[in-house]
Amino acid sequence: MINAVGREIPEEILKETGKQAFQGAYAFDGYEYRKGAPKVRPENDPQRSKLVEDIHEALVKCGIRDGMTLSFHHHFREGDYVLNMVMEEVHKMGVRDITICASSLGKANDPIVPYIEDGTVTISRVNGSITYPCSVMLVAPMNPCPCGYFGPPTRVCPCSSKSVSRYLSRVSGPLLDRIDLCVEMDPISFNELHGTGQGESSAQLRAQVLAARAVQTQRFAALGYTGVHCNAQLAAGQVRQVCRLTPGAQQVLRSAYTRLGLSARSHDRLLRVARTIADLAGTELIEQEALLEALQYRMQDKLEVR
Ligand SMILES: [Zn+2]
Repeated sequence: MINAVGREIPEEILKETGKQAFQGAYAFDGYEYRKGAPKVRPENDPQRSKLVEDIHEALVKCGIRDGMTLSFHHHFREGDYVLNMVMEEVHKMGVRDITICASSLGKANDPIVPYIEDGTVTISRVNGSITYPCSVMLVAPMNPCPCGYFGPPTRVCPCSSKSVSRYLSRVSGPLLDRIDLCVEMDPISFNELHGTGQGESSAQLRAQVLAARAVQTQRFAALGYTGVHCNAQLAAGQVRQVCRLTPGAQQVLRSAYTRLGLSARSHDRLLRVARTIADLAGTELIEQEALLEALQYRMQDKLEVR
């Protein structure tokens, strides 16, 4: 069969692939089809310009609405930035629950992290798609280096410091900054593995958590906070009101803030965690020990310096 640009296309290939030979750019004008998604209709008019004024108009013409999927081609010039610009507009338009299919997402795309937090975006990658509900609990394990043996003296890690820092930098700063508890785990020793397990039982821990939650519920009700069910949901202004510190803890916070170069966001996150530790311990003010413990859970601030 000869296609619309005069090329001979072998019949058996058409039969084998179930495809049709190219019949011209406008052969399917107005033809409706389904692409594993909502029905789409191509519109081609050689008399009309394909250019639109701006991203907003392009999105409106695409019929953008909640729950849609937007795919991005990596080979756009400055493609990573095009994705950010489009998502900024989507966010401004108040569209929610958008799934992004990008052939790559890298550091250049960090500006979209807040849109994941506020429910504008869910991320879809080549090997699967994850929908984050608006209230996210993210649990993410990671090796300390490409081989996995960096740190403990029992095994030799052959990774160069350059490859370790390249490996660690794959999780970007803005994402790490939003993780409340970041801890380094040592390998389990033989004795621990065969120990009698003298730690607290799940039932005991559950009772402690429920008691702390009860204190929080009472506190939020007394302050008239609506829609706040746990410390993690406290807004910045509420953090100041609820996370009050002893003078000693205040001093630790001041020096940690400067020494670790904390962002305002991580400062508030630290206080929310410290408040929770204090609630578990049953103290009204956040004491020095609670704040120091919360600081231990900010391993990400130490990752950079080692
Ligand atoms: Zn290694």
